[in-house]
Amino acid sequence: MFWSVAADIPMLLAFGPWADWDEVKFYKLYYYCYVLPHSLWMLFLVPARWRLLYALHIIMDVPSHTGEWSVKPLTPVLDWPVPGFYDAWRV
Ligand SMILES: [Zn+2]
Repeated sequence: MFWSVAADIPMLLAFGPWADWDEVKFYKLYYYCYVLPHSLWMLFLVPARWRLLYALHIIMDVPSHTGEWSVKPLTPVLDWPVPGFYDAWRV
């Protein structure tokens, strides 16, 4: 269970759940706590038995994050955001 949400934990620990998310994306810490943990390269750091859970988190985040929150799954090799097709945070 931990590994299915592990990619989001650095962001929550760094900024807390009540952060001003419109402002957070301008901080350098945003890159290390959001962009890098949502990179598929992080799978090499995850224990082998939990990689599928971690990868599923990233795969689910790709279509549900748009605009400046788009996931960059190949960062830091390719800084290419994959635009999602809906924004789960705006209902
Ligand atoms: Zn996430």
